[in-house]
Amino acid sequence: MNVYMDNAATTAVKKEVLDEMIPFFTEKYGNASSIYRLGRESKKALDQSRNKIANILGADPKELYFTSGGSEADNWAIKGVALANRNKGNHIITTKIEHHAVLHACEYLEKNGFEVTYLDVDEDGLINLDELKGAITDQTILITIMYANNEIGTIQPINEIGEIAKENNIYFHTDAVQAIGNIEIDVKDLNVDLLSISAHKFHGPKGVGALYIRKGVKIHPYIHGGAQEKNRRAGTENVASIVGMAKAIELAYENLEEHNNHVMRLRDKLIKDVMDKISHVRLNGHSQKRLPGNVNFSFEFIEGEALLLSLDMVGIAGSSGSACTSGSLDPSHVLLAIGLPHGIAHGSLRLSLSDFNTEEEVDYVVENLITIVDRLRQMSPLYENVKEEK
Ligand SMILES: *Cc1c(COP(=O)(O)O)cnc(C)c1O
Repeated sequence: MNVYMDNAATTAVKKEVLDEMIPFFTEKYGNASSIYRLGRESKKALDQSRNKIANILGADPKELYFTSGGSEADNWAIKGVALANRNKGNHIITTKIEHHAVLHACEYLEKNGFEVTYLDVDEDGLINLDELKGAITDQTILITIMYANNEIGTIQPINEIGEIAKENNIYFHTDAVQAIGNIEIDVKDLNVDLLSISAHKFHGPKGVGALYIRKGVKIHPYIHGGAQEKNRRAGTENVASIVGMAKAIELAYENLEEHNNHVMRLRDKLIKDVMDKISHVRLNGHSQKRLPGNVNFSFEFIEGEALLLSLDMVGIAGSSGSACTSGSLDPSHVLLAIGLPHGIAHGSLRLSLSDFNTEEEVDYVVENLITIVDRLRQMSPLYENVKEEK
């Protein structure tokens, strides 16, 4: 059996999405800036896609800018606002649990004269609104806080953060990459000024995303070149992918309730079965305020890397809570920020669900986890001590 439970890393492109994209590679391949029919057709598809996506987000189509994905949208929002508002101040507020696209963009700005406050989170991964208020200075120009965390699934109080930003006349950007397709989003209700999305996290293609920029926000362009995207983001538009992203977001919101009911049922079963059947396990992330498809466990006395490899051998794809996979032995910054000791953070496993997962798959994963965790623990000297103490 092959089980894919790493949908927070990327998702399968839905068949309906691919079907809409294909003509734009081979037949309707015109450059959207060209004036002849082929070009106009591309331009029309681009406009329709922009309208669809903007409509779902409650934005004006003029406020939506296509990018190469979530990382570019995050980088653009942060560096673009910082550069354009430097005369007003040099202080940015973010959190310790952001995606690296946000954290590393902030670190880059710190090396270039900006100051950044990284807010702590509590053991569930939530920021404290009073701490946010307390961090604001007369130099603060931007608050960037993610909507939902990609590792532990915790959902922040974006509404309230938006209000605080608005009251203080500070721009508010949110990385909504994990939230899109899981949570109903209206940029006007949320009081956000900038919001990042990425198609491959909601069954669209990789390499395409968008940045919502509220009308009136002062921001520098990110890619210089042609006049595309109202002179703000140069480069021949990736029409096929943009069409795919529009179809994917449309499908996601048409079936939102169904999707959420399905993945939440699987998520809750997975959590219950694992907690019931395996000892010394911790569920990371908020118990209620979490993404419908996110599960993140820490198994004591186990190396996450060994667990992932064993799961892979029985056809299960998940993700570890450490960055070992990227060649470093540091546990994830998110798990450390919620206060997990290194040892426990190392034994973490994220399983993220999609519409395509089934109850049968959940049973298969639980069954295999029981055996694998037991086998790995038998090899652990630390676990030996625990058993002897009993
Ligand atoms: C995946 C992800 C990104 C990066 O998006 P890409 O399109 O892969 O560049 C940014 N933020 C979060 C929260 C993500 O999950």
